[in-house]
Amino acid sequence: MNITAFSKALYSTWIYYSPERILFDAGEGVATMLSNKIYAARYVFLTHGHVDHIAGLWSIINTRNNAMGDREKPLTVYYPQGNKGIEIYADFLKRANSELKFKLDFVGVGSSDKVFLRDSGSFTRYIQPFPVSHTYSEISYGYHVIDVRRRLKEEYRDISGAEIAQLVKEMGSDAITETYEKKVLTISGDTILLKKEDILDTDVLFHECTFLKKEDRKFNNHAALDDIVELVKDTQVKTLVLYHISSRYISVLDKTLRKIAIPGVKILYVHPEKIFEM
Ligand SMILES: [Zn+2]
Ligand SMILES: [Zn+2]
Repeated sequence: MNITAFSKALYSTWIYYSPERILFDAGEGVATMLSNKIYAARYVFLTHGHVDHIAGLWSIINTRNNAMGDREKPLTVYYPQGNKGIEIYADFLKRANSELKFKLDFVGVGSSDKVFLRDSGSFTRYIQPFPVSHTYSEISYGYHVIDVRRRLKEEYRDISGAEIAQLVKEMGSDAITETYEKKVLTISGDTILLKKEDILDTDVLFHECTFLKKEDRKFNNHAALDDIVELVKDTQVKTLVLYHISSRYISVLDKTLRKIAIPGVKILYVHPEKIFEM
């Protein structure tokens, strides 16, 4: 999958998806920890404006601007359109770095917008934001990475390879195939429990899991382990990665998560004090 991540609730969260050079959130320490890799980042997708998800952006901009060598690749930061906190921060960053050596854009996206990463006939991949519930005052998003793929139309799925080859010759492959959309990665951002429809059929789900115990949650703005486990059953999710875990659980984390099982689902977690790789 090629993901590097760090996530400790309240302190810092970032997830780097290297195949598309995307950073989902940019918590404090991201430039330090990704080191040279940070220059490769092409896009940042911010889920919301809390400081533990955006503070590292200043360092990213600063290191790219001052490092030696070819650091002039553009950087585009997408964020939930209308998020005031992010807009104020973006305005500050632009003013504090008025002489940038690279192109820096902040682009507000709506939940029906698609951000195309690749769109080259045979390979289309885009980011789809979706609204989540986290704070009352500001808009928060999760993000899907979606591939547009082709498959045989239903009526041709049971026939032999030789017959298919013959049909392709006669009718062309477009006539017997159809496009469909496949979620390859879903990032929840900070949120209460996601809706089933949002996670259905995604290959890899990063779901925030601030609380291991529901009783520890004082406000309804984050998710808890038991609810996530229930949610993910029968959704075709292949890999569940729990992140944004509160550091209060460090001593019981391994023991608690070892007891969790969901049929057909591989469960991983981002330890609040370690770099995660998958
Ligand atoms: Zn957070
Ligand atoms: Zn938050």
